[in-house]
Amino acid sequence: MSKRYRWACETCGKGQLGSSRPPLDSVVRYCLPCSKKTGSLVKRTCPALERKRAAKLQRSAAKRSRKTERTREAETARWVVGRFDLRAEARKLCRLVKIPLPKLERRFRARDYTTGRSWGGRVVLTMPPGVSEHEALALLCHELAHEAADSGHDQRWRSYFIDLCEYYGCRVVGAAASSQDLHELLAGGLREALGGDPKGAQPPRPEDLKNASRPEESSP
Ligand SMILES: [Zn+2]
Ligand SMILES: [Zn+2]
Repeated sequence: MSKRYRWACETCGKGQLGSSRPPLDSVVRYCLPCSKKTGSLVKRTCPALERKRAAKLQRSAAKRSRKTERTREAETARWVVGRFDLRAEARKLCRLVKIPLPKLERRFRARDYTTGRSWGGRVVLTMPPGVSEHEALALLCHELAHEAADSGHDQRWRSYFIDLCEYYGCRVVGAAASSQDLHELLAGGLREALGGDPKGAQPPRPEDLKNASRPEESSP
């Protein structure tokens, strides 16, 4: 026999035991003396069941929010490379060149080089799991430069690419013949500007990065 619960009338306090889910027309659900007195059906309640259901609702809400939290953390982990959250960097860089933030997509690749694609409003960054800061930022700047220039590897794209990398204190020295050469030149410049990819430091403030040859160790 399943567990019995006390259903009681809130007016007169009298009640009786019933199942957790009596049929809707079961007399357990109603106080007949009070109903007779008032002329309309007076319902009984089951406080024990109500408490139980409230607790269950609370537990599942907590479970849902833990799940949301885990999803958010996993998403953040996808986008954080060393000291940089590439989503936040993309927002800053887009403001810098006054373009709307494209939809960003990060893909992982086992091979150790990065590739990207700009589709006009959508940017795909394909990088290995252990990608370095300067490689990730170079790829982000490369693709956002395509978004800003709305072109292939032409002069407009070059100048946007250089401008975006300069935001991190990258200075280009020398000339680059091909777009691939320019990419490598700027990635190298970024590496130098960022202090050669130390791991585990706090994200530096942009104003600190401008002229820094070494990363800030603390951010008070
Ligand atoms: Zn009653
Ligand atoms: Zn390109």
